[in-house]
Amino acid sequence: MTDIPRLMRALRLHRAPADHYTLDEVPVPEAEGTKVLIKIGAAGLCHTDMMVMEGSFGGGLPLIGSHEPAGTVVALGEEAERAGTVKKGDRVAALLPKDVCGECSDCTLGDWKYCANSKYGGINTDGFFGEYALVEVKHCVPIPETMSFEQAAPLTCAGVTIYTAIRRANLREGDVLAISGLGALGSLGVQMGKALGYKVIGIDARPEPIELVKSFKLAPDLVIDASKTSAKDTIKEIVKLRAEGYKGWDGADVTILTADPVSSQTFAATITRRHGHLILVAQPPELKFEFKNFIFQDLTLSGSLHGNEKDLKETIELCDKFDIRSEVAKFTIDQHERMVSSVHEKGRKGKNVLVF
Ligand SMILES: [Zn+2]
Ligand SMILES: [Zn+2]
Repeated sequence: MTDIPRLMRALRLHRAPADHYTLDEVPVPEAEGTKVLIKIGAAGLCHTDMMVMEGSFGGGLPLIGSHEPAGTVVALGEEAERAGTVKKGDRVAALLPKDVCGECSDCTLGDWKYCANSKYGGINTDGFFGEYALVEVKHCVPIPETMSFEQAAPLTCAGVTIYTAIRRANLREGDVLAISGLGALGSLGVQMGKALGYKVIGIDARPEPIELVKSFKLAPDLVIDASKTSAKDTIKEIVKLRAEGYKGWDGADVTILTADPVSSQTFAATITRRHGHLILVAQPPELKFEFKNFIFQDLTLSGSLHGNEKDLKETIELCDKFDIRSEVAKFTIDQHERMVSSVHEKGRKGKNVLVF
């Protein structure tokens, strides 16, 4: 324990809205109970962090940003030690919720990820843009030696979220999965879909993400530039992806929406086949659909939230096995202003990650 300092450097948000974090020196938290102290190797900057900065979530300020940690276990609380699932020196990734209540209906009967009383690191309590941070022992998942911290960190939010949504789609090999939006989630999702044996369509209206996914080893079977191709023409292209003798409906079996623009919503609904499934993981301020997509196509719309430790474990294993990667740009803590401001730059692709 002697090598753990008393103070650490961390990026804190003091007020919202704000343009940047403040680089502060704060006490290193202590591992007690079920908590594990990790020395952060990498922490991702997520779209949700930008929303926190804009003031979309109230409370908890000042707080340390980021909810996407990967690092090395350096200390364990007594109960965490007793759990025996991780030990000092282990490389781990951890999930976003830090304090679930353990008492509500979802904690006892359902899935704790829906806990209504949970505090979220980087959102309403301290997150992971610091040299050290606490996580719940049960939210820790080991990272294989072959995976770097900067590749593991985005899997704890973007990766596990899109993986869980894909699993929710309940597809069989050869089925057609469309992913609308090829940012951090979508660019991982198209690779996962291919790894799982589906026919995959990637859709975006920006040239950079489109070029990026085309360059993947697990590139989508079809990439649609929605600024140039209509939904109707997209359906014609999807028909060509079907196996010979296919007798089903035209369009994608399932479409996952990861993009915010309202225009992408009707496009996604229209290219989904009759009796198909539309899954929402984006968090746009409003949804604007046309009734005809739902009534005449008999579409089902469902939301999908993040994932639990089982989902994260499967996400990490799948990404490791198939060498599924995020496009990451690394920043040191002294480059934090650049890390935040570059998010808004035109032509940007992939994910900004803070590394220590
Ligand atoms: Zn996130
Ligand atoms: Zn709860």
